[in-house]
Amino acid sequence: MLKQVGDGVWVRQSGWVWSNSTVVRGEHGLVLVDPGISGAELSGLAGDVERLGVPVVAGFATHPHFDHLLWHSRFGDVPRYATAACAQVATESREQAQAMAAETADGIPLDLVALVSPLLADGGPVPGKVIEHDAHAVGHAAVLLADLGVLLAGDMLSDVLIPMLDPRRTGQLDAYEAALDRLEEAARQVNVVVPGHGTIAEGAEVAARFAADRAYLEALRRRKQPADVRLEQDWMAGPHQTNLKALPD
Ligand SMILES: [Zn+2]
Repeated sequence: MLKQVGDGVWVRQSGWVWSNSTVVRGEHGLVLVDPGISGAELSGLAGDVERLGVPVVAGFATHPHFDHLLWHSRFGDVPRYATAACAQVATESREQAQAMAAETADGIPLDLVALVSPLLADGGPVPGKVIEHDAHAVGHAAVLLADLGVLLAGDMLSDVLIPMLDPRRTGQLDAYEAALDRLEEAARQVNVVVPGHGTIAEGAEVAARFAADRAYLEALRRRKQPADVRLEQDWMAGPHQTNLKALPD
């Protein structure tokens, strides 16, 4: 079930919203980024990871939404990191994340939801460069694995999900575009981009993902209906309406 996408990077996709769990081989061992989401899938991922024969040394959560804050005892009792801002929000809203996990998928170990601490100053066991920005969620971070040829994008650059603005904060159009600028610069150093949800982008598809997210945001800015294939999915109407409500008057 693990698909190798780089030199020491593997992805397993969930049946729920094409969520991507990523396994990264760092200097000290494996780091699991956003593992999810059902209990059976987490357990399956644990089996995949055991077959790699390298110990799990840490976890990393890209942002404080419940589906990115999950864990399973079979991964081991190791530290799980996030940006300081993400860790704070995740800790404060832990009960809400547990409730959402419980109602969304079976078998998620609820006692292990949202147990994350601020990333160490030198990154600790988390390899690559963490790129923190203000789009989509507080403390959201991408992970640039330049040596391994992969950018882990968190909840951006998806072929199934439109950009989702953080409804709790103002200035999200600017923040989202600024984040895309930084991620696009990072993506120039790699061949593969792994979104939090959806198909892995390789080669020319990477540029197409940036173009699609930018075109969607530009349409929002102009108060025009976006010409975006992702909106052809009925269930994207809700997130699109939420974005429209988040726009300044
Ligand atoms: Zn999210």
